[in-house]
Amino acid sequence: MELVKHRILVVEDEHEISEVISLYLQREGYDVQIADNGVFAVEFARKEQPDAIILDIELPGKDGVEVCRDLRQLTHAPILFLTCRGEEADKIKGFEAGGDDYIVKPFSPREMVARVQAQLRRYLLLNNTGVSPQIFSFPGLEIDVQQNTVTVDGVVIPLSSKEVRLLVLLAQGKGKTFSLEELFTEVWKSPSLGDPRTVIVHISNLRRKIERDPSDPFYILTVRGIGYKFNESLYV
Ligand code: CA
Repeated sequence: MELVKHRILVVEDEHEISEVISLYLQREGYDVQIADNGVFAVEFARKEQPDAIILDIELPGKDGVEVCRDLRQLTHAPILFLTCRGEEADKIKGFEAGGDDYIVKPFSPREMVARVQAQLRRYLLLNNTGVSPQIFSFPGLEIDVQQNTVTVDGVVIPLSSKEVRLLVLLAQGKGKTFSLEELFTEVWKSPSLGDPRTVIVHISNLRRKIERDPSDPFYILTVRGIGYKFNESLYV
């Protein structure tokens, strides 16, 4: 369940194709914009900062690879190329230009949606601002993702790797609400098989270690009936 509608830009001059893509993505709750050439695509990306871009290789005027280079000046959002089967050279050029994945025409809409979701998920988790921060600094709390250390009021706090992962995930969400299931899937790297108490217990331990008053948390907030989020007021 997403609380924010993510924006996807589809760059494709064949209307039947862009309509199908748009239909399936909208069905998944995405906000979809269509550009039928590279000029509009770049203009849109500059103004609207889409969360992901589907980019056809064969476009009138500038081709997809050139458009990708232009887009990369503006955004780090995932770019998925649309290409025809067997165009190996195009794929290589596309990756070199900064593309993240390929959707080969004719594609299955479900596979297309799955690929977009996979790219988007990774981007939003690891690369929220376009540059993955290695250190999160909040009043009284510092999380060093690289070193795997958490400092509270200048003192390094020993945390388990699961606790660190939970904390980093929440902090990277910038106030996004995570369900217990999402947290479980991401941190335990397996589909949730059901005991939400695992997450609750770890959050409670984490709070005990980092919160000044664990019964009135400042960093990790409870979203009743859903899960947890990092206190969004701490992001300036
Ligand atoms: Ca085309």
